Amino acid sequence: MKVLMVSPEIAPLAKTGGLADAVGALARALVDLGSEVTLVMPAYRTVLENVSPLQETGIEVEVPIAGRSVRGVILRTRVGERLPAFLIRADSYFLRDGLYGNPQGDYADNAERFVFFCKATLELARRTAPWDVLHCHDWQTALVPVLRKVHGQLYSEIQETKALFTVHNLAHQGNFPFSVWDLLGLEMQYFTPRYLEFYGNINLLKGGILFADAMTTVSKKYASEIRTPEWGCGLDGVIRDREKDLYGILNGVDYQEWNPETDPDIKKKYQAKNLIGKKFCKKDLQEIYGLPDKASIPLVGVVSRLVDQKGLDILNEAVEDLMHLDLQLVILGAGDQRYQALLDGLPGRYPEKVGVRIGFDNALAHKIEAGADIFLMPSKFEPCGLNQMYSLKYGTIPVVRATGGLDDTIEDYNPLSASGNGFKFSGYSGPTLLEAVKRAITLYVNKPAWRRLMAGAMACDFSWEKSANEYLALYQKLIERGGPH
Ligand code: ADP
Repeated sequence: MKVLMVSPEIAPLAKTGGLADAVGALARALVDLGSEVTLVMPAYRTVLENVSPLQETGIEVEVPIAGRSVRGVILRTRVGERLPAFLIRADSYFLRDGLYGNPQGDYADNAERFVFFCKATLELARRTAPWDVLHCHDWQTALVPVLRKVHGQLYSEIQETKALFTVHNLAHQGNFPFSVWDLLGLEMQYFTPRYLEFYGNINLLKGGILFADAMTTVSKKYASEIRTPEWGCGLDGVIRDREKDLYGILNGVDYQEWNPETDPDIKKKYQAKNLIGKKFCKKDLQEIYGLPDKASIPLVGVVSRLVDQKGLDILNEAVEDLMHLDLQLVILGAGDQRYQALLDGLPGRYPEKVGVRIGFDNALAHKIEAGADIFLMPSKFEPCGLNQMYSLKYGTIPVVRATGGLDDTIEDYNPLSASGNGFKFSGYSGPTLLEAVKRAITLYVNKPAWRRLMAGAMACDFSWEKSANEYLALYQKLIERGGPH
């Protein structure tokens, strides 16, 4: 199986969130299963400065953008021993500090940057064909399936190739004003509600959903949620129309990266059989956040992008009451100024109880997974979510809202049968969040019960192998089906 895996971010090359983790780990898992996978990503500044080896391929692509021709240079690198990657270099677009924007917001030319990326990828795919599957991720790659089909004569070498489109988060759609339509190079007939128009704007994600041979999203629950007006972000009708080609495949965890037995970022490694190391990790975390070094107090961790989706408003609603409980709270996050300001104020008000770090810090994220007792994810919606699965592996019990992938992976603790691997709440409100945290810390003082819960959590297996096999089966199905959808 020859797969060209196209994504705007791929760990460890460049990452802003779970998308990068998911694509990088899926690619490695597919290689382990015997597929030939090649990655495609833009050559951002961080890639040019940090990735090695970085080699010339001698391939250059000329991309038409609104009547101009823009040149891209294709570089090559490798992730590990067996995973090659093409990096598309065009410094005027990608030689910047951020992937999609800076603290002030998204880059104003994101439409042009990613239209270029899609067109350059298609040209590269054509010139390096044959490929069995073009697997594209999120709106930044959505024009790949669109242009491949609409301008089939330009890309004849990849007409037999199957295009799979994975939506990691339906809330990010690549919506742009009609004024940038010329960049796409599509005929006007495609600017209609039947195709890429969305209430007067261009919606790139919608194009990907309509033109790919099949679509996946990252949990079964989310795949059913996005068919409804409540969670469909305006695209539920389009998704229902393509229902028979929609699949939910859960993201997995890369246990090479997230494993307390081998994690180089944590104070002391540990395993389910011997949890002494976790105590050192907790003490270390309390020190990092300047909190009283108390072994017996439950320490609640949060690692999150600070955006509406993540439930920070209900956390804020509950915070007063949470602070009356016997617990400590450490938070790591970056994102919207509004939430940063809300959180920044907390340690001043509750210096003994709350620590907040604003920023993106991968090592600290690992330390929180290891050092906390409880991991809180009160998301409004969550396509898959990775942190709750990482937490299980670290014996850090998740408290989550029952939505999307959180609902699929966390089973609420039942005190009668002692079954479950975490605590779940349904209603999106401060009081429901508070109630779930209370249940967790009530059990926490019952040491034998808590240890059993930890042992069960640490034994959960969300490795990529199972999900990668599901993707492989889907690739196979599309190939056997043949013909256009
Ligand atoms: P999303 O993709 O919506 O951000 P996920 O739970 O799927 O949510 O993935 C989040 C990933 O990003 C995890 O690997 C998490 O550790 C990481 N992450 C999020 N915010 C930060 C941060 N401020 N610092 C370090 N890592 C972070």
